[in-house]
Amino acid sequence: MSSPGTPPTRLTVLAGPTAVGKGTVTAWLREHHPEIWISVSVTTRARRPGEVDGVHYRFVSDDEFDALVEAEELLEWAVVHKNARYGTPRQPVLEALAAGRPALLEIDLQGARQVRMRMPEARFVFLAPPSWDELVRRLVGRGTETPDERERRLETARAELAAETEFDATIVNHTIPAAVEELVELIRS
Ligand code: 5GP
Repeated sequence: MSSPGTPPTRLTVLAGPTAVGKGTVTAWLREHHPEIWISVSVTTRARRPGEVDGVHYRFVSDDEFDALVEAEELLEWAVVHKNARYGTPRQPVLEALAAGRPALLEIDLQGARQVRMRMPEARFVFLAPPSWDELVRRLVGRGTETPDERERRLETARAELAAETEFDATIVNHTIPAAVEELVELIRS
C-alpha cells in the first residue's frame, strides 16, 4: 500500500508485434526480477510443449472464458491472430498494485488499448524489433506455426508496428538481457 510521500505503484503494460520477443523478455524478467509481479493471462489456445498451466497461462475452455467475460472478471481481453482468446484477470492486478508491487502485463495491442481506457495512469511500453527483416526471421525461426498461421501473424505484426506512436516509451529488443534491464529501469522510475 502506498503511504503519503510514496508515489503509487504503477502498472506497466508491455506490448509489441508478434515474435518480437515479449514472451522471452517476460520469462527472463520472471527469472531475474522476482520482485516484479507478472500477470498470468487466461487463454483458449492449446498448451504448447513446455508450458505449465497457471505459470505461463491459465488454459481454459471457450465456456470458461465466456463465464469470465460475463462475470466481468477480465481487465481486458482480445482475440489474437484471429485464433484464440486471451485475457487479463482483473483482481490479481489490483491486488498486486494495492500491495505496492510493481506489476507488468504482457499483452497484445488491442488489450493495451483497452487497459489505456480503463487505467490511463498505467505506463505503456512498446517492444520493437531491430528491423522488419529481423522480425520476419524471428517469426519464421520459431517454427511452431503453420504457414497460414504465420501469414496471419505477419499481418497482425504490420499493424502492430504502426502503433508504436501510441506508447509512452519504446525499447528496441537487440538482446534480451539489455531489453529486460531497460524495462526494469522504466518500471522502477
Ligand atoms: P502466444 O500464443 O504466442 O503465447 O501469444 C500470442 C499473443 O497473445 C502475444 O502477442 C501476447 O502478447 C498476447 N497475449 C498474451 N496474453 C494476453 C492477454 O491477457 N491479453 C491480450 N490482449 N493479449 C495477450
